[in-house]
Amino acid sequence: MSLQIVVVEDDPDIADVLVLYLQREGWSVSVAGDGARALDVIRARQPDLVLLDIGLPGDLDGTDVCRELRRFSDVPVMFLTARDDEVDRILGLELGADDYVTKPFSAREVVARIKAILRRGERGAPADGDAPLRYERAGIVVDGARREVTVEGDVVPLAAQEFALIEFLCRNLGIALSRQQILDGAWGEGWIGDIRTVDVHIRQLRRKVGDALPLETVRGVGYRLD
Ligand code: CA
Repeated sequence: MSLQIVVVEDDPDIADVLVLYLQREGWSVSVAGDGARALDVIRARQPDLVLLDIGLPGDLDGTDVCRELRRFSDVPVMFLTARDDEVDRILGLELGADDYVTKPFSAREVVARIKAILRRGERGAPADGDAPLRYERAGIVVDGARREVTVEGDVVPLAAQEFALIEFLCRNLGIALSRQQILDGAWGEGWIGDIRTVDVHIRQLRRKVGDALPLETVRGVGYRLD
């Protein structure tokens, strides 16, 4: 089935490039140039993902659109921002966006990130009959159904990507995984970025979950969860 993507962008040059690259993937694309139109299109099309510019003409900017659409949809949202400091502001608003790209961006990168988001979504919703993931060790519980990690009963606040990482490790218990395998499995094969991002997230995970987590560094390979 072809994916439906809604591009909310008032700059026709940027919209055209995005449409070109998204259609090249075989996806159906609708474009809306302002916030009100965007909400109409999203309601009508029920897309698989929304690319949402922050600076829009009219009464509603991108953050307003995101807040409004969250009333009726949990569609993944990727923000297109003009500046890095805008990302900080958006994060502070806790709008439930799935990713951010800062202009100028490469359309190829946007496509890769979309694929990664959609793959995460698939993993988040296991097929019927799939037992939801559950890992229990040393007071640590990873609950795939609730998408939650607790230590001695206390919830550990993890970012979505940190949860995706621990979930992938739990699904490969006892196996020494290379950084590339972890990147492909937990970020998605379309991810473009430095492989050291794995180390950064592992460090975060260890810090947040604590020393009881039996996550070993395997010299010359990568990491293993026992
Ligand atoms: Ca704009």
